[in-house]
Amino acid sequence: MRKNIVAGNWKMNANANAASELIKNLKKSDFSETTEVIIAPSYTNLAIANELITGSSIELSSQNMHESDRGAFTGEVSAEMLKSVGVTYVILGHSERRAIYKESSELLKSKVDQALKNDLKPIFCVGEELKDRKDENHFKVVKNQLSESLFHLSSEQMKNIVLAYEPVWAIGTGETASPEQAQEMHAYIRKLLSDQFSSEIANGISILYGGSVKPGNAKDIFANKDVDGGLIGGAALKAEDFTAIINSFE
Ligand code: PGA
Repeated sequence: MRKNIVAGNWKMNANANAASELIKNLKKSDFSETTEVIIAPSYTNLAIANELITGSSIELSSQNMHESDRGAFTGEVSAEMLKSVGVTYVILGHSERRAIYKESSELLKSKVDQALKNDLKPIFCVGEELKDRKDENHFKVVKNQLSESLFHLSSEQMKNIVLAYEPVWAIGTGETASPEQAQEMHAYIRKLLSDQFSSEIANGISILYGGSVKPGNAKDIFANKDVDGGLIGGAALKAEDFTAIINSFE
């Protein structure tokens, strides 16, 4: 059966001291062993985080990665560098990367390939903008994002992908998709995976929901049968809130 996962996307928050504090507090927290817990601090905090999570079950993710092995790419970080500091996951296709840094489906496809080649597991994000939802194009947008960057993969490769559905209009806005809207899209994604790969693959992939998940709404969102956890932004920056979210599975 697929895993329940809660991942914290710290975005560009927390300097070295704040990151250390947060991880120490998380380690003191009492969270459910049955849920996989992942944190994604900034590049500068990954090595520190790697040391601090030793001996705990917390996994480390980066928030981005370059698509090449190495070379003249000033300011970039490679998969191999990430692995060397204990990173096992990489968030790819976050809406902020797509919108602000103009990351295309084609580029994301290269990043997914590069991550898998280096045994990093992508947490691949998809999600529609408010206009898409108003125009009732949300299913089409999500289908295109998935097919353009992931549907070239083999079933074996697909087993290493975690998906996150994050409606852009719900990120950092305080507005969440209703549990019904989340379930509807997650079920749709699972159906696409089943058609493209197999029902076995579709049923094995964890699909996380992201967008203003908080201790107060996590339970209702996670209670849906196709929602396997969350990708958490703002609420991942407080150990207490993040722990409450991790413990929100029935
Ligand atoms: P949020 O961010 O929880 O602050 O809405 C989620 C995300 O961007 O991954």
